[in-house]
Amino acid sequence: MFLREINVPVSSVRGVGPATVKPLATLEIHTVGDLLAHWPRDWEDRTEFHSLSQFDTRSKIHVKATVVAHDWFGFGRMRTLKIIIRDEAGTVAELVCFNRPFLEKQFPPDSRVVVYGSFRYAYGSLQSSAFELEQDGTSPARVLPVYALAAGISQTQMRKIIANALREYGRGIESELPEPVRTRYQLPDKQLIVQWAHQPTNLSQTVQARHALIFEELFLFEYAIGQRSLERRGRLPRLDTDAETSRADTAQPGPNSASVCQNSDSVPAALFPLQSRLIERLSFSLTPDQKTVLSELNNDLQSNTGMARLLQGDVGSGKTLLAFLAALAVREQGGQTALLAPTELLARQHADTAARLLEPAGIRIAFLTGNLKASGRTKLLEELAAGGIDVVIGTHALFSRNVRYRNLRLVVIDEQQRFGVLQRAAILDKGRESDPDDRPPNLLMMSATPIPRTLALSVFGDLDVSVIKTMPPGRKPVITHLAAKKNEERVYDFIRRELAAGYQAYFVYPLIDPSDSVELASATDMFTHLRERVFPDTPCALIHSRIPEDEQRETMHAFRSGKIRILVATSVVEVGVDVPNATCMVIEHAERFGLSALHQLRGRVGRGSAQSYCFLVFSDKLTESGKARLRVMHETTDGFVIAEEDLRLRGPGDIAGIQQSGYLAFTLADPIRDYEILLEARTAAFDLLEAGSKR
Ligand code: ADP
Ligand code: MG
Repeated sequence: MFLREINVPVSSVRGVGPATVKPLATLEIHTVGDLLAHWPRDWEDRTEFHSLSQFDTRSKIHVKATVVAHDWFGFGRMRTLKIIIRDEAGTVAELVCFNRPFLEKQFPPDSRVVVYGSFRYAYGSLQSSAFELEQDGTSPARVLPVYALAAGISQTQMRKIIANALREYGRGIESELPEPVRTRYQLPDKQLIVQWAHQPTNLSQTVQARHALIFEELFLFEYAIGQRSLERRGRLPRLDTDAETSRADTAQPGPNSASVCQNSDSVPAALFPLQSRLIERLSFSLTPDQKTVLSELNNDLQSNTGMARLLQGDVGSGKTLLAFLAALAVREQGGQTALLAPTELLARQHADTAARLLEPAGIRIAFLTGNLKASGRTKLLEELAAGGIDVVIGTHALFSRNVRYRNLRLVVIDEQQRFGVLQRAAILDKGRESDPDDRPPNLLMMSATPIPRTLALSVFGDLDVSVIKTMPPGRKPVITHLAAKKNEERVYDFIRRELAAGYQAYFVYPLIDPSDSVELASATDMFTHLRERVFPDTPCALIHSRIPEDEQRETMHAFRSGKIRILVATSVVEVGVDVPNATCMVIEHAERFGLSALHQLRGRVGRGSAQSYCFLVFSDKLTESGKARLRVMHETTDGFVIAEEDLRLRGPGDIAGIQQSGYLAFTLADPIRDYEILLEARTAAFDLLEAGSKR
């Protein structure tokens, strides 16, 4: 039986009573399988002994000593025992026994003891108040597991119940890794791994167990990726050799970090007639990178295996246009396109752009969100199902159950980092449903958040990757200023001059409404303040997620047309919003925003040919990490560098909301830290799939 198949409720383990079930549940431990898979987060080595003089070489030391005396300090209820000990080298230390007066009887002078704890110098002597104490010879030498805990369960209890579970249910656990893989990569069988993780006799066992568990986790993950790719495209994604050999590169994910094969680097594909006509009508020409990507997209669309592509390009690099060009090609092939955006605001903007660019070419466009009124909605759904609509643009409403397509051939997911895997799968299923041969639709995911190579290998391992590196010509990098809250007036003066010159500005706040618990400026409060006190002669508007959709739409429309000059907002304007005449972005409490949010927000300006500015206003309560983020924003405008710093400052789990969207749900593995194992596991998984598909 596999570990995860042991479905016996955890309450059947000895020592797990009703009081323990609750804290276990908060740790997501419901079955015996869950309990046994609650891997230690660390191990304490109690096989070696230290001398007291080594107290500062590690956080806790393990010492054999003799009790030399007792001492008491404090009065009445505060009276506290001190046990004075001396180790073999003659070093003396004090064990301060807060609330443990009973230790006096248990450890009289001359007792031989073993102490495990952290020591420090205080009041002129070496002391510990956080220690475990026992008679020498009580416990055999061992390595103890350290588990993540929840309120209501202690380390000792956790150790005990896991030991019980192991004794009662720990036999006959099978490996999920096939035998040849285990032999080839020298991994112990699962039974042994479980034993070594929970009850190791030496540290080397814990190292091996951890490695094997990480390998297994990454293997299963990569296997799933490979399988998906085989199903979808009849081939496995290939690693480029570069990615396999250069470890150093992973620390510096550059624009070339695309590490899956690009099957389209050959001849530029011919344009579809509708595409050429649109490109001729544009007031600008495509950048070289846009041309390359367009050719990649067209190649995909004309190939048998179709498109499964991630398009990366920094904010403002012109991804939307490429999505529309792809939609035109699909239209010419007789298919429908669905363009999915994370917010109503952005979906609406895309619909407006589509109306401008595509409708003249005879493309029929529809806009679908959750808020659409029932009557309009019914009609729209009928048309979609009948094929009267070519391109539908909307939010997650696009994959609600009652939405049917005539022939959905392309799904574009804008700002893909905002969506979870399940949502992605749901919309792909729509395409499969509407295809007579059950083929999944072409998939184009767009992201302004660069994805470091390790993640490209793991999370997006089944996609081809295109990158737009160059910005449209004439763009000037946004100038970023840091400003302390108390210098806000100077920022306002600056904005006044920009407004006078005809430009527009955003003001962004971390909260919609004022809060009792934190002292933060809110969009609502500041809107009143800015409109009444600071810019009384300038038309201002407020926008945030709780404002009704039609009102948001009108506001955005008025801002885009220039009727409104100042937009006070929350991070709803974070993604995608495109108003080239806005040149100023003021972010207050900038220290509260994450790096990728700051980068996205700053990307709202600098979209036209005028010089743009971003003011990061910080309050005096600046944390170290807040300071670090502001420094990065000040130093660079390069999204790839920022993503890399983000990764460094926050750790991989957090990056770009990947964790939040459920992409990376690893328990032990960390694809960045465990990069080598990731590569091995991927090779192992793909070898196995390859062998299977040949049979
Ligand atoms: P993003 O990649 O962030 O989604 P957008 O697609 O919103 O960027 O494009 C940003 C702006 O750049 C839009 O106003 C778009 O019309 C404009 N744009 C796109 N391609 C070009 C180009 N080749 N030359 C000039 N402007 C362009
Ligand atoms: Mg965009």
